[in-house]
Amino acid sequence: MAQPEVISMGNMLVEIMRIHLDSPLNEPGTFVGPFPSGDTPIYIDAVARLGHPAGFIGAVGQDDFGRCLLDRFERDGVDSSRVRVLTDHTTGVAFVAYFSDGSRKFIFHWRDAAAGQLAPDYVDPAYFGATRWLHLTGCNLAVCESAREACYQALAYLPAEAKVSFDPNIRPEVLSAEQIRALCDPVIERADVILPSLGEAAMLTGARNDEEGCHTWATQGKLVFLKQGPRGCRVFATHGDLEVPGFQVEETDPTGAGDAFCAGVTVGLLERMSLDEVGRFANAVGALAVTRKGPMEGTPTRAQVIEFMR
Ligand code: ATP
Ligand code: MG
Repeated sequence: MAQPEVISMGNMLVEIMRIHLDSPLNEPGTFVGPFPSGDTPIYIDAVARLGHPAGFIGAVGQDDFGRCLLDRFERDGVDSSRVRVLTDHTTGVAFVAYFSDGSRKFIFHWRDAAAGQLAPDYVDPAYFGATRWLHLTGCNLAVCESAREACYQALAYLPAEAKVSFDPNIRPEVLSAEQIRALCDPVIERADVILPSLGEAAMLTGARNDEEGCHTWATQGKLVFLKQGPRGCRVFATHGDLEVPGFQVEETDPTGAGDAFCAGVTVGLLERMSLDEVGRFANAVGALAVTRKGPMEGTPTRAQVIEFMR
């Protein structure tokens, strides 16, 4: 498949996580993994599982962690013809610990790994001919300069009629709010859909709170889906906003819910669902994502979503 309908790009990582809660990463303990991960890989894999032709631009090392990611893409039908397998870098890794207050702590091996080598020359204009949707995230703009330039390059090659979605997904520990805004603004300007988590809309717009920030984007003509964990989501559009309650599930692993949710929004909008239906569909995809251990393990197929929503 040379020209996918939906494209994403960025950090291809495997995740290796603590088995037990409250087992900090500075002490010996037991891990489980590798699980295929990375915010945009989780997203694109979910889009493919939901039935839309999807392709990814990124890099892995020529090692078994890279194989783990490529095998998952192959199994789920993500085109990886634009994923480079590098011989001089190893595959990116994220180590994760979970704590009983619900927080998580990460150690990323990314910038110096294959994932950090993504650069503008990875972005082939010929790949974008049939693209209807490009999904970008803030962490790929913030962590490494060459990956950021690659994301901007993709925007330049994207057909004018194609939609862009943007998930801020930014950890402000690394950069100041002003720096983050400067990096995200070129993408936010082009974005049709913005998918913030709690706190991100306020930070990126400079508004007093998320609600005000989401309204600001909506008045600029953007469609905004504010992710609210188990509570579901809130949708902001030029003509008003609506609350779409979440589904009740047993949460096993929250990582990846946001990315799976974004995939649900993309698919719902591509299929011209009503905003309420898009919110419900994406909530269902996000809810199912948290029911299994591992960032991509709970990502549902379309049949599973439909069955779950009944
Ligand atoms: P992450 O960055 O960890 O992937 P996020 O903060 O971007 O997540 P969340 O708001 O945690 O995103 O989750 C995205 C969506 O997934 C929510 O809006 C909701 O629809 C669904 N979801 C997440 N957690 C749960 C849960 N425990 N129960 C039901 N639905 C959930
Ligand atoms: Mg998020």
